[in-house]
Amino acid sequence: MLLEIEDVHVHYGKIAALKGITIGVDEGEIVTLIGANGAGKTTTLKTISGLRPLSAGRITFDGQDISRMPGHKRVLAGIGQSPEGRGIFPGMTVEDNLFMGAYTRKGDVSKDLAQVYELFPRLAERKSQAGGTMSGGEQQMLAIGRALMTDPKVLLLDEPSMGLAPMMVQQIFSIIAEINRRGTTVLLVEQNAQQALQLAQRAYVLETGSIVKSAPAADLLDDPQVRAAYLGGD
Ligand code: ATP
Repeated sequence: MLLEIEDVHVHYGKIAALKGITIGVDEGEIVTLIGANGAGKTTTLKTISGLRPLSAGRITFDGQDISRMPGHKRVLAGIGQSPEGRGIFPGMTVEDNLFMGAYTRKGDVSKDLAQVYELFPRLAERKSQAGGTMSGGEQQMLAIGRALMTDPKVLLLDEPSMGLAPMMVQQIFSIIAEINRRGTTVLLVEQNAQQALQLAQRAYVLETGSIVKSAPAADLLDDPQVRAAYLGGD
């Protein structure tokens, strides 16, 4: 496995947000983590990227225990994150936002910038525009583009479809598929379970801090409990 989260516990004060979760992501996969509001999805991604400390358990990436590694080193090791709420720099241009993704890297990043612009032609058209004046969908593209500028082995995506119109959701999901085809492993957190399960190969269901199901994504699309709870099912 490229990324392994083993029996990880995370607390906010006395509150247990993650109660011993185990998740594996293989190189080349798209894995999705679905779950309701407050299930712990964002906490899981923050713990992987080093923004939240874990209180027990272990995270291994590319054969290395990264449980206590500071966040910026995890970025250098190949963990790229596109955060919930996008977190772009509103006063900076689109292009400068993208360069911020690469600021810890040495060497020439122009190839990566060209790749991001190829994946997101809209960002190329708008490269001189202030990030904060971009539409919601465009800001989502920018956040993903910025994460790609870190040249990640695994891309962590937190609710990329949140607040977007259906057409834009389709567009973002097909770009995620393309990013994966080009060789980047993806761990996708989503409330839009239908779309996420269609895109991913494997899926985990998180409920109040625990993994309650793990299966091929296609199986969960047909799972009566998952349909009822997450797919507005029949
Ligand atoms: P959503 O889809 O609503 O973003 P989520 O599945 O991503 O939900 P988390 O944001 O990971 O869930 O939250 C998991 C639990 O931890 C929730 O009960 C939440 O209230 C709690 N929590 C999250 N952040 C904090 C914090 N900074 N302080 C205290 N509790 C927190």
